[in-house]
Amino acid sequence: MASVDRAEVDSVVIGAGVIGLACARRIAHSGREVLILEAEGDIGSGISARNSEVIHAGIYYPTGSLKARLCVAGREKLYAYCTEHNVTARKVGKLVVATRSEQIPALHKLMEQARANQVEDLALISADEARKLEPELSCIAAFHSPVTGIIDAHGLMLSLLGEAEARGAALALHAPVERGWMEDDGRVTLAVAGAEPMQVTARRLVNAAGLGAQGVARALQGYPADLVPPLHYAKGNYFSLGGRSPFSRLIYPMPEAAGLGVHLTLDLAGQARFGPDVEWTDRLDYDVDARRGDAFYAAIRAYWPALRDGALQPAYAGIRPKIQAPGTAALDFRIDGPEVHGLPGQVHLYGIESPGLTSSLAIADEVTARLGLD
Ligand SMILES: Cc1cc2nc3c(=O)[nH]c(=O)nc-3n(C[C@H](O)[C@H](O)[C@H](O)COP(=O)(O)OP(=O)(O)OC[C@H]3O[C@@H](n4cnc5c(N)ncnc54)[C@H](O)[C@@H]3O)c2cc1C
Repeated sequence: MASVDRAEVDSVVIGAGVIGLACARRIAHSGREVLILEAEGDIGSGISARNSEVIHAGIYYPTGSLKARLCVAGREKLYAYCTEHNVTARKVGKLVVATRSEQIPALHKLMEQARANQVEDLALISADEARKLEPELSCIAAFHSPVTGIIDAHGLMLSLLGEAEARGAALALHAPVERGWMEDDGRVTLAVAGAEPMQVTARRLVNAAGLGAQGVARALQGYPADLVPPLHYAKGNYFSLGGRSPFSRLIYPMPEAAGLGVHLTLDLAGQARFGPDVEWTDRLDYDVDARRGDAFYAAIRAYWPALRDGALQPAYAGIRPKIQAPGTAALDFRIDGPEVHGLPGQVHLYGIESPGLTSSLAIADEVTARLGLD
C-alpha cells in the first residue's frame, strides 16, 4: 500500500472560495500557520465564480441577523480593502423600483428595513427623478442606494490568497477532504484524497466548503449529525444583453420569494446582464435553459419596456446553498462555532448565499472570534 503523507498545522481551512480565502488571510494575519485544502484545481471555481459580483448595501435582511450585520460591516471593509489592494470595485449605485401601485407600501417597508440596518444615504425618489437618472427606466417610484457597487470577485480572491500566502499560509489544490476524526487531544485529523493523498492534523478547522460544507461535516466522526442543516440547491440563471447597457446603475425590481427578482447588474466592462432567477433543483448542473428566457423578457419589460425580442442570450448560472426548503422562509447564515457543536477549535459555515461575497471580510472576523483568535 502506498504511504500517505502526514502533516501537522495550527489551522486548516477547507475550501478556497471567497469565504475560505478571507478566513485563511485573517488567521494568517493573527500569526497562525494555515493550510487551505481545495478540492478543485484552482481557487474560486465554486459559488464564488458564479454570482452577480455586487457589493450589496444590506437592504433586505432582518435587522440584527448575521446577514444584515455582516453585509453592512463587510461592505465597508471590502471597499477599503479594494482601495488599499488595488482590487477593482466601483460604487455604481442601485435603484430599487416599484412598477405597480400595489408595490408602493412594500417599497417603503423595504426602505425602512434598510434604514434599520444602518444602510446609509438612501433616498426615495419619484418616477420623474428616476427617469432623470436613468432615461430608459419605467417605474412609478424608486429608492436610490448610492453605496451599492460591483467588484472583480476573482481579483479579490487572488488578492486574499496573496495576502494569506505572504503571511505563511499554504494552498493545496486537488485536495478534497474525504473524512475526518477527532484526536484524544482535541485536534482534528482530515483524510485528504486526490493525486497525493495525505492526512492533516490541526488544532483549528474552518469548514468553508460552500456547497460541500454539509458533506464535510457529515464525514467528520464525532460531529453531531443532527446539527448539520439540510442543503437545497436554488439555481440562479443569468441572461446577458448584447451591445451597450441601457442603464448606468443597477436596477432591482421588488424582491421575490427566494431571490431579489430578475435584476440588472453591470460587469466592470459596462456590459449588462439580467438575473439570477430562482430554479430549485437537485442537481449541480450549470447549463442555462434558453427557454427560461421567456420569463426574463416579461419580468424585465416591467421596468424596461424597450427590451427588444431576441436581445437576451443565455449566459451562466450559479447555485445558492440554501438551508431552507423551497417555499419556506429565508434563513440566516449559519456560522457554527464550539458554542453550537461543542467541538473546540472548529467553525462550520452553512448557507453562505448572497450577500456572502460582500460579507466575506466580516465573516472572516466573525469566524476568528468564534475560534477565540484575536
Ligand atoms: C446566483 C448567485 C448570485 C450571488 N450574487 C451575489 C452578489 O451579487 N453579492 C454577494 O455578496 N454575494 C452573492 N452571492 C453569494 C456569494 O457568491 C457566496 O456567498 C460566496 O461566493 C460563497 O463563497 P464560499 O467560499 O462559501 O463558497 P465557494 O466559492 O463555493 O467555495 C467553496 C470551495 O470549497 C471547495 N470544496 C467543496 N468541498 C470540498 C472538500 N470536501 N474538500 C476540499 N474543498 C472542497 C469547493 O471546490 C469550493 O472551491 C451569490 C450567490 C449565487 C449562487
